[in-house]
Amino acid sequence: MKKTAITMLLAAGMSCAAIAQTKVIAHRGYWDCEGSAQNSITALVKANEAGAYGSEFDVSITADGIPVVNHDDDIQGYVIETTEYSKIKNLKLKNGETLPTLEQYLQKGKQLQNTQLILEIKPHKKTENENRAVKEIVALVRKYGMEKRVDYISFSMNICKELVREAPDAPVYYLEGDVTPKELKELGMAGFDYHYKVLQKHPEWIKEAHELGMKTNSWTVDDEKVMRWLIDQKIDFITTDKPIELKQILLEK
Ligand code: MG
Repeated sequence: MKKTAITMLLAAGMSCAAIAQTKVIAHRGYWDCEGSAQNSITALVKANEAGAYGSEFDVSITADGIPVVNHDDDIQGYVIETTEYSKIKNLKLKNGETLPTLEQYLQKGKQLQNTQLILEIKPHKKTENENRAVKEIVALVRKYGMEKRVDYISFSMNICKELVREAPDAPVYYLEGDVTPKELKELGMAGFDYHYKVLQKHPEWIKEAHELGMKTNSWTVDDEKVMRWLIDQKIDFITTDKPIELKQILLEK
C-alpha cells in the first residue's frame, strides 16, 4: 500500500516536472516525414500527431488580400504581395498538396485542439502590405474564435507593433534578436523568439525575460547539444525541424 502511494507521488511529481519543462514547436510543421512538406496542412496534422506543443508556419498576404501559407515571399516565380490569389491558388507543394490559405490552416487547426498555432507573419516589401496583412490575419483568427490558440511571431518590428495595436491580448514574439527583454516588455510583447546563437551570446536574457513575466522561445534548434543547453537554461519553447528527437530528449531529462 505504502509502495503504491510512493509510486503515485513519484508519478505525480514527474508529470508536474513534465508540465513545467520546455515545450516543442515543430518548425514549418512536422515536414521531415513521409507525405509531408514544409508549411503544408499535412505538416500541421503531423505535428499534432507527433505530440508537439505547437506548429509553426509562415504567412504572407496576396495583392488582393488573401493570407497564404508559404515560407518565401515568392512562390514558383510569383511575388506573393504583388500577385492576385487566383494566379497562385492552384500551385502545388512538394507533397502534391495545393498552396494552403491561412483560412484553410485555421480550419484544420481548430480541429486539432492540442496544437498551438505559431503564426509567423513574414516581412513584406511595403509597410502598407504588412499593415493590411496584420489586419486581415487578426480578423481571420477572430472569425474562427482562435484567439487563444494562436501565438504571433515576426522578424518585422513594424508587424509586431501593429499586432500589439490590433490585438492587444494576443501573445506577440519578436524574432530578430536585437532587442532586450526589457524593451520588448515596454513594447507590449509576450516575449522573444530568438536564434540560439543570440542566446548563447546573451544567456542572461532568458532569466531577465522570466523575471519580467515573459516567455522565451529559440529557433531553429536541430542540434542535440544546443537543445540540451537551452533546456538547462529553462527556455519555455524550442522551435525545431526535429520534434521527435527533441521530445525524446525531454522525456529522458
Ligand atoms: Mg517561420
